[in-house]
Amino acid sequence: MEELEPTQMTTWQPSSAPVPEGEIIIERGSTAKDVGPKLNRSATDIIRFLFLQGEIVSAVQSLSDDMIELYADEVGADVHLVDPGEQKEAELLAKFFDEDVDEDVVAAIARSPVVTVMGHVDHGKTLLLDRIRQSNVVAGEAGGITQHIGAYQVSWHSRSITFLDTPGHEAFTAMRARGAKVTDVIILVVAADDGVMPQTVEAINHAKAAAVPIIVAINKIDRADANRDRVLQQLSEHGLVPEKWGGDTIVAEISALQGTGIDELLEQVLLVAEIGELVARPTGRAVGTVLEANLEVGRGPVATVIVQDGLLCVGDPVVAGPAYGRVKALINDQGVPVKSAGPSTPVQILGFSEPPFAGDEMRVARDLAHARSLAEARAQRSRLVGQQPVASSSGARLEDLFEQIQRGESATLNIVLKADVQGSLEACTESLRKLEREDVKLVIVHRGVGGVTENDVQLAKASSATIIGFNVRPDRRSRELAESEGVQIRTYEIIYKLIEEIEAAMLGLLTPLYEEVVTGEAEVREVFRVPRIGAIAGCLVLNGAITRGSKVRFLRDGAIIWKGTVTSLRRFKDDAREVAAGYECGVGLSDYQDLKPGDVIETYDEREIPRTA
Ligand code: GDP
Repeated sequence: MEELEPTQMTTWQPSSAPVPEGEIIIERGSTAKDVGPKLNRSATDIIRFLFLQGEIVSAVQSLSDDMIELYADEVGADVHLVDPGEQKEAELLAKFFDEDVDEDVVAAIARSPVVTVMGHVDHGKTLLLDRIRQSNVVAGEAGGITQHIGAYQVSWHSRSITFLDTPGHEAFTAMRARGAKVTDVIILVVAADDGVMPQTVEAINHAKAAAVPIIVAINKIDRADANRDRVLQQLSEHGLVPEKWGGDTIVAEISALQGTGIDELLEQVLLVAEIGELVARPTGRAVGTVLEANLEVGRGPVATVIVQDGLLCVGDPVVAGPAYGRVKALINDQGVPVKSAGPSTPVQILGFSEPPFAGDEMRVARDLAHARSLAEARAQRSRLVGQQPVASSSGARLEDLFEQIQRGESATLNIVLKADVQGSLEACTESLRKLEREDVKLVIVHRGVGGVTENDVQLAKASSATIIGFNVRPDRRSRELAESEGVQIRTYEIIYKLIEEIEAAMLGLLTPLYEEVVTGEAEVREVFRVPRIGAIAGCLVLNGAITRGSKVRFLRDGAIIWKGTVTSLRRFKDDAREVAAGYECGVGLSDYQDLKPGDVIETYDEREIPRTA
């Protein structure tokens, strides 16, 4: 009988001890047992509090970010959540680096803007960058060899502007994906003869996602077939309505070839920068971002950084990502050694222990030992992360949507949408828009025709988006990148399925998810016609293995052109059950005859993905 008695409730008094002052660093996924003591509370305090909020957790169960924040709020603690394994790093940063801002009683003053040039290939980005550089690089350096270090500064009407020298979206997005914000203004180059092209649209979406102001440069106006009005019209269709049509997009007309209109363009850049009220401390310990880094023979690790705050000096102990060291030399954008570099100045740093990564934050430490301990903590974490599968996904997942809605937040689902043809892209967009509700916003961060590219994955990561592919597939490299970056790619072949799933996600009713696992990939080298049998594709297996009887689809430029099964598989003259990577084989295509060399054959399996939560 005694055993059957309910155990007596222990009397429990909520602790009322004061919570520690200042920022408390807590790793994501900590348990009540971990978090309690850090806040001068017991695990029971937390469990009970959460219970009253309707959440039942045990002392050793990982708490969600919200639970930790909710409790911290309740007891009035200031918590800073960091990724698992990042605690040491965050503590070091807080201890040795964070007082920089208060410590320096240096008032911030205006700094020059940092500009990135974007646009479609061949629209004149490189020529524009070269032109600006030639005509405006600080006087007195004539004849000097201009060195490409990833960025340069020009002086114009006694003001200066910094240009990032690597046009293109990859660099920009890769930086943003790492949390670095370097660019203040984007110049979007559109060729007047060619108009708005896919990469123009991509650039617009990247800029919007990063909330960086855009100035449009209509280039090649010297050409006879230049059609400015058409460009303006197309830009308006993408939400960039020019000022002269009553919108707020600044448009400059230029010819990078003849050098016309460039002064006006620079003037506009300075105007936009002024509105942005860009300021930085002119002295004090420097903070910046790594633009690029490599190992050079005879010079060792060389990193180009852009200083964003404070003054970087020769002799400073610095740390960037997992690299640290004492600045041995600083080289400016003209290849000239300098003693120091202030805000918005790009410089090469010599003296790092190893090359850091583009997008890494660079900081000056008070002491070389501080720099080293921070770098080592990071190196250790990256080793740990490298060994583990990515735990927390950085892109948004459909599964998380309902949770957001339930929390009463207005939820947003960011989407990168790719489809096989313009028609289906429009159809998907339309149907998705119709799903929008008051409490759930759908934001299409980027949409385009074509396969899912690495660039799409980068963009999705940087803007916490889910990638939706309609009748298109990611190639192997984008798939791998998505996996390592924790970005979700969902592909559909029927519109109503797509709509159904998004709707289900909104209602928290996602049914078991089947994930397709690609088992083999082969490239078609040649197609043979065999009488009575039909077409046989001579293929080279690139990855995995092709197995007879497995499900297969054919891809042309990333778009699905056919689906079915592998009916016959041959290696030389013999039937084969399976052909592995590196070998050639013949694949029989029962009812699909229209294959071409260069097409890709992809075989896949379906497996159920366990749902989290
Ligand atoms: P990017 O791919 O955007 O960097 O384009 P480039 O700067 O390499 O330019 C592509 C081509 O367009 C080159 O052959 C340039 O000479 C040409 N180009 C660039 N700007 C102009 C221009 O203002 N007028 C004319 N006619 N051609 C230009």
